[in-house]
Amino acid sequence: MSLPVFYAVPVIWAARRLGSPATLIAGITSLLLYAMDVIWHGVDYEIVPWSVAGLILVAYLAYVIASQQEQLVSRTLAAQVNASRLYRLQLVTASLANAQNVDEIVDIFHREAVPAARAQFGTLVLRCAGMLAISESADTTIQLREEVAESSMADGPQPVLQTLRTGTPIWMALVSPPERKQPANDSANGDTVRARAVLPVTIGESIQGALGFEFRDPQELDERHQLFLESIALQFSQAVERAMLVETERLARSESQAAEVRYRTLFESVVDATVLLGSDGTIVDSNVAATRLFGMAHDRLRGMRFQTFRIRGPNDAPSLPERIVSGEDLFEIEVRSALGAAAPVEVHARPVSLDGETYFLAVLRDISDRRSLERLRREMIAMVGHELKTPISTIKGIASGLSYAGIEWDAKTKAELISTIEDEADRLTYLVTDLLDTIRLELRGLQVDQEPCSLAEIVGSRRREIEVLCRGHDLQVDVPGDLPLVKVDFEQIGRVVTNLVSNAAKYAPLGTPIVVRADVEPVGSTVRVEVIDQGIGISPEDQERIFTTFYRVPNPDRSASGTGVGLTLARGIVEAHGGRIWVESAVGRGAAFSFTVPLVNEMVGSGQVR
Ligand code: ADP
Repeated sequence: MSLPVFYAVPVIWAARRLGSPATLIAGITSLLLYAMDVIWHGVDYEIVPWSVAGLILVAYLAYVIASQQEQLVSRTLAAQVNASRLYRLQLVTASLANAQNVDEIVDIFHREAVPAARAQFGTLVLRCAGMLAISESADTTIQLREEVAESSMADGPQPVLQTLRTGTPIWMALVSPPERKQPANDSANGDTVRARAVLPVTIGESIQGALGFEFRDPQELDERHQLFLESIALQFSQAVERAMLVETERLARSESQAAEVRYRTLFESVVDATVLLGSDGTIVDSNVAATRLFGMAHDRLRGMRFQTFRIRGPNDAPSLPERIVSGEDLFEIEVRSALGAAAPVEVHARPVSLDGETYFLAVLRDISDRRSLERLRREMIAMVGHELKTPISTIKGIASGLSYAGIEWDAKTKAELISTIEDEADRLTYLVTDLLDTIRLELRGLQVDQEPCSLAEIVGSRRREIEVLCRGHDLQVDVPGDLPLVKVDFEQIGRVVTNLVSNAAKYAPLGTPIVVRADVEPVGSTVRVEVIDQGIGISPEDQERIFTTFYRVPNPDRSASGTGVGLTLARGIVEAHGGRIWVESAVGRGAAFSFTVPLVNEMVGSGQVR
């Protein structure tokens, strides 16, 4: 008879290796074998009961240990599964935390949440801007995405749509796969889906979407996995809410940016300076034209009082808002820019209401040009009235006298009278030409026709005229014939010389010298022409003014007649040649007018004509 301990060995081995049912079978088998052994080899009544009892005890203990071991293993496994779910949930949560928009959320669902849920198929439906964004994936390999109107969703993924409508989760085991628009892949297509879970994506009370998972294994829908899927759905709900908030903010921002762009475009498209004033008269906004008018950048203008720029009249006028409130909407004021330039402006102003507050919109039109044209017109009327009348009445008087039948004119007197008519008619012609050229100059500048000319020839062509003008003066002309050629308009430069000589003769006493001379400038490539007299001279403050249209130095004895346009034209003509004109003088000490014109041989050096 074998020792009972041999029969205990397989029991213990089964308990360690094969688990509790195998241990039980091994125990019973050992007992049976032992019984057969006892029967075969005879009974030893002393040890058999103890042996049987020992064997039963060993089998029992082995069974208990094996089943405890099993429980421990299954608990450990469950804990591992839970830990792995938790880990997967954390991964999905972390990805969702960074999702900025619905597209990213959809991506995370298919690439991370579906595998994390161990699902074979995933379906996500989200409500976006009145449409349904539907996406499906199978083993993350294929994603179909489309946006459709909710009303046209009759053939959509039905269980998901059902949850989308009702908000109720669906847990279904043993279902067959739905017909898909496109097979996910060949192997997936052949599989039978045996469990399905659909969970709503909710924001507050409203259902914003639904997540669908389909599994091969129905055990995936056990209680713990359901909890896991609910946690995933909750994370998606929060992520969608965040994304929608971000999107709403972005839309609001871009809308307000678009409104700002529209407002600025409108504001800047106003050609005239435009400012928006607060009710206290401070500048709230301005356009580019306003920055030019006030000589200050937008940032510096903002917050400044409009009154700062106003040149106040003798009576302290009310502020702009005060005038607007009192019903004025069009008035003229003078403003001075930060750079010092003053300008008359016409103000069109209106109160406007923005965001419930009252502002004043003022459009300021610089009317300097209009003012100077008005001045030009006034002065021209006065000048024409005075200057044109004299020759016309002379001509008229002589003509009437000559045609009067009662007087018999001798031939000499008649010739003199006719010559006077001729001179006065010439004077009229010059006057009218000067006036027309002045208007042209004011409007669009003078055109000159430059060609190589000899200054000696130009002065020579005017010689007779100059001599007549300087009758009674000591005229000295020093314009050498061998001066290099200048590139000028022959007629116009002749006109400048005549004009300067005429002025010298008008404003210098008889008998004094008048010098006309020309020479090449030591520096540069110009010739300088000078007309020098020893007349009444010009004060420093008048030396610049005399070149402005119609300006005449107040003349106490008013002996010299004139129009006040000669020097304006002279400057216009010289500057049109690229030259410069100026005067050096002192009161009572005569005047030296100089101007420069370009040399022709300048083009030899540079190779091109300027
Ligand atoms: P006009 O001589 O017809 O008045 P101009 O434009 O030629 O007009 O000259 C403008 C003013 O400049 C004159 O009215 C005169 O007061 C002053 N002026 C010009 N030339 C001289 C000069 N050589 N000497 C003194 N004053 C002058």
